[in-house]
Amino acid sequence: ATRDGLAMPLGGRSYTVEMADGEPELLTETLRELRPSSLLIVTDSNVRTARGAWLEAALRPLGALPRSIVEIVPGEPSKNLSTVSRIWDHALAEGVDRDAVVVAFGGGVVGDLAGFAASTLLRGVRCVQIATTLLSMVDSSVGGKTGFDHVAGKNLIGSFFQPNRVIVDLEHLSTLPARERAAGLAEIVKIALVDDAELLHALERDAERLASGDRAALRPIVRAAIQAKIRIVRDDERESGKRALLNLGHTVGHALEANGEYTSLLHGEAVAVGTVLEMRATARLGLTPADLPSRAEALLRRLGLPVSSSATEVEAAWPFVLSDKKRAASSMRLPTVTGVGRGEVITLTIDALRDAVLATCS
Ligand code: NAD
Ligand code: ZN
Repeated sequence: ATRDGLAMPLGGRSYTVEMADGEPELLTETLRELRPSSLLIVTDSNVRTARGAWLEAALRPLGALPRSIVEIVPGEPSKNLSTVSRIWDHALAEGVDRDAVVVAFGGGVVGDLAGFAASTLLRGVRCVQIATTLLSMVDSSVGGKTGFDHVAGKNLIGSFFQPNRVIVDLEHLSTLPARERAAGLAEIVKIALVDDAELLHALERDAERLASGDRAALRPIVRAAIQAKIRIVRDDERESGKRALLNLGHTVGHALEANGEYTSLLHGEAVAVGTVLEMRATARLGLTPADLPSRAEALLRRLGLPVSSSATEVEAAWPFVLSDKKRAASSMRLPTVTGVGRGEVITLTIDALRDAVLATCS
């Protein structure tokens, strides 16, 4: 069997991340344990088409359990208040009660929206996260950050709300487009750079197989990335310290993503570019070992990711850095790679970051 349960220990609210490859029974069993009064399934139209049969196979044995589905338009532009509102309206029209369970069936966009809706409906109903993208498997489904975007910037409204279970079935990756797979690999590189030297080596060893979607190669990498995320969240659930390391590449990445109105770069692609630019900037400031930015860039390239941006683009995107939620007055906290698999959150002025980033652009 390919099953594997990874524990997320969080005081009284522990849960498990269940891994498998082609086992909808994982969801059937989870729901038998949770005994919900009804299910509110949140998904998007791509996921429903590509993975609907998996969901049906999981729910069939549960027979009469009441369920309803909210299907959203795929992609980051849907991650807003009006979609949350649609989920709330739907749930209340269906007569949701405190024993209902919200099932997030999709990638990070669905997971963040459904998790937020679950955290606010009736002041909180239970939630199961079923990750269907590589990015959501290793990052967004684990750790309890939920929320949505505001015109002022990405993820500016949200809550910390831990799910009751996370289900990672690698079979979902069989229908995931290559570009989305690469975007997920970018977040794995990010985790490796700040927390896991061994994972970084594994990525460098198997880059081409990973880029091609080889599930045998992906499996240990996904597992290691989830383990790293669990270690970090376990020690710092509310991001008062080391969890901020997971924002490596996201200061510049979010700005590039927002400036492209969330349509030109995928989140993971923006993170890839942001990681390289931020690492080059902190290397210039003497905070990151000089050889590491090129090493990260070479790996990201092999994984099929963009790694650069023009100075014009960065300048156009800079206003979004200024509205970044990690900013405090003129200085900001920036996660920084300080060694292989090692990171530190440093404080620097926004202007120093801007100058160093621009100096690294063509
Ligand atoms: P996504 O949810 O938009 O999914 C990407 C695309 O793949 C969509 O078009 C979707 O319909 C499609 N898709 C999903 N699963 C599929 C499958 N198995 N087969 C075929 N198509 C499939 O994007 P994402 O990359 O999963 O998530 C990005 C979001 O996650 C961003 O909004 C980001 O802010 C958020 N995020 C949150 C956290 C967190 O801690 N909460 C962490 C990292 C990222
Ligand atoms: Zn991210």
